[in-house]
Amino acid sequence: MSTTESPAAAPGAAPARPCPRCGAPLSVSERFPTWCPACEWNLLPEQPAVQYRTARARRRAERAERREEERRRVVRERTEKVFRLVAAEGPERRTAPPVAAFALAGLVHLVSLTVLLLGGALTAGLVGAGWFPRGLGVLALAVAVLVRPRLGRPTRDGVLTREAAPALYGLVDQVSDALGAPRVDSIAVSGRFNASFGVVGLRRRRELEIGLPLWEMLTRQQRVALLGHELGHCVNGDSRRGLWTGSAVDSLVEWERLTRPSADHGSRRPMIIMAAFVANVLLWVVNRAVRALAGLMFRLHLRSGQAAEYRADGLAARLASVPDARGVLVALLNEPTVEAVLVRRRALPRQRSGGRSGGPDLWAALAEAARTVPASETARRVRASEREVGAVDASHPPTYLRLRMLDTAPPPVDRAPLVLDAGRAAAIEAELAASRERVARELL
Ligand SMILES: [Zn+2]
Ligand SMILES: [Zn+2]
Repeated sequence: MSTTESPAAAPGAAPARPCPRCGAPLSVSERFPTWCPACEWNLLPEQPAVQYRTARARRRAERAERREEERRRVVRERTEKVFRLVAAEGPERRTAPPVAAFALAGLVHLVSLTVLLLGGALTAGLVGAGWFPRGLGVLALAVAVLVRPRLGRPTRDGVLTREAAPALYGLVDQVSDALGAPRVDSIAVSGRFNASFGVVGLRRRRELEIGLPLWEMLTRQQRVALLGHELGHCVNGDSRRGLWTGSAVDSLVEWERLTRPSADHGSRRPMIIMAAFVANVLLWVVNRAVRALAGLMFRLHLRSGQAAEYRADGLAARLASVPDARGVLVALLNEPTVEAVLVRRRALPRQRSGGRSGGPDLWAALAEAARTVPASETARRVRASEREVGAVDASHPPTYLRLRMLDTAPPPVDRAPLVLDAGRAAAIEAELAASRERVARELL
């Protein structure tokens, strides 16, 4: 993660100076990089130049960079195409999950099943006799175990029970009901700067994870919008999360890891070097095939996945309001700010009681740091999300497009917003008190 915010500097604006490139007046803040909204000078702070040892190393790095450039261009093009499609159809419209992704997932599962059966048959001595087929069988079984479809394990850490948090569960249930989504089985509170929803385990438990650093930064209605987005994933037709396709993606990731050729085999004996070379060539071929398959899967999911994210944003806006849904997206840009506060706090000396100066003021400090981010820095982060499309993971559309979607294709205002009033918010706050203490300890 890149931290652009300087952790030591105090907030406060210095007098304006002109942009060195276009001369427009700049607003300068000591906490954040200075940039020019008019010509985008210093939009992304410069990275230090790398020194290469040989010309060949430099050429290789340049080739890799060109390939990366090209990959980004392709992702950016697709991302913008998905935006145009969803904007034209309206976020409420549900597209069918792609048949091709289902078929491809079937192929992956079929390969896994074949390896398992073959391993079983070889180990049992049904195909050929002797130690070699049996050894191969055991190897195939081991591979089958590694690439098996995984259902995920239910979270135990930080789980709040219904009895311990009736007000929070009440709110979450109300959001589920309003969206026509099934109710969650458990809510876990974590220290991540995010929130997530997932279905795990054999019994397909529906789990909501609330990251406190994000939650604490949001206003009451932004919290409603955040829950609307996450629980919206139950009803937005997100093909990536299904059991069939989701587990196939996980299997592919495992296949890729297993078949990655290793460069170093640590031996100087010619026979071993030869054998390792042959094995690596074979692995390389399989690895390329796996990567091609994973790339195809990625492209198939990009459209349905990003469309699902826009729909979840639309559901959030419909449940709370467009400004609240926007507020959540802007708050999510605060990750560097959270990181800077944590770095500063971790540098404080430990108190005699053993802990660092405490939980309660950590949350106040985080909220304060987020509240005092100047508008020019928020604008810079939104603009930077445009430059970085394709550089970060493509599971979510870039923030600038998500904001633009809320503006250009807002959901219909056909219901009164779900209001989290001060009384209930306070009850939830009290239920989270113990979690706040625990998470603060974990973070510091
Ligand atoms: Zn400028
Ligand atoms: Zn989402």
